[in-house]
Amino acid sequence: MQKNVKAAAMMLCLVCLFLFLLSNRDSRQEAVLPAAAVNENGPLIALTFDDGPYPNVTTHILDVLEEHDVCATFFVLGSRVAGREDVLLRMESLGCEIGNHTYSHADLTQLSAAQCAEEINKTNAEFERVLGHAAAVVRPPYGFYNATVRQNVPYPLVLWTVDTNDWKPRNTSELTEYVVQAAQEGSVILMHDQQDSTAEAMDAIIPELIAKGFRFVTVSELIAETGGACMAVKMPGDG
Ligand SMILES: [Zn+2]
Repeated sequence: MQKNVKAAAMMLCLVCLFLFLLSNRDSRQEAVLPAAAVNENGPLIALTFDDGPYPNVTTHILDVLEEHDVCATFFVLGSRVAGREDVLLRMESLGCEIGNHTYSHADLTQLSAAQCAEEINKTNAEFERVLGHAAAVVRPPYGFYNATVRQNVPYPLVLWTVDTNDWKPRNTSELTEYVVQAAQEGSVILMHDQQDSTAEAMDAIIPELIAKGFRFVTVSELIAETGGACMAVKMPGDG
């Protein structure tokens, strides 16, 4: 009988020790994670992805953004919204911004004033349908704009400071190295959520930029934080 009591007591001790080790391990993990995640005073960076969504690629990028709790801006084509509403809703739920990249990827400089406005308005109507609001920023396809575009697109026109040329499939580690070395305070990085290689490169690019202390913002946040004086953005009314 006494033997049984001793055995039970020993078992209880072992269970307690196991629980203690388990709880200790969890608290150590919790203590390390937040410190590595965000640098509140770090240089600002805006990652931007154009021409999507392409659900397989875009979803992979959103998974990486979610894992590291950072945001980006997606310049979506109005013609690609129908049937992919869930992807846009997830972008917003993760704190990402959805910008207007026209309806049909038109070169706006080749269009009349009315056609130009239609490209923007048709896309905003799709955003209204899905998200309940229009986009606050526009990226003209190819970065092309002229006086007619300026007059008929009364939004900040967002260009870029770093062109990754990732619309053609690229070696993932080359792309990673290029983005990480080119990133500076206030950079607007142009990428496309179209190629698998871009999505795969995000697995490395995001943690490397976080390790360098960058603070990820949407384009509208970048405009607000810099009082509209950020590189690569033409504000309405600017010369
Ligand atoms: Zn484009």
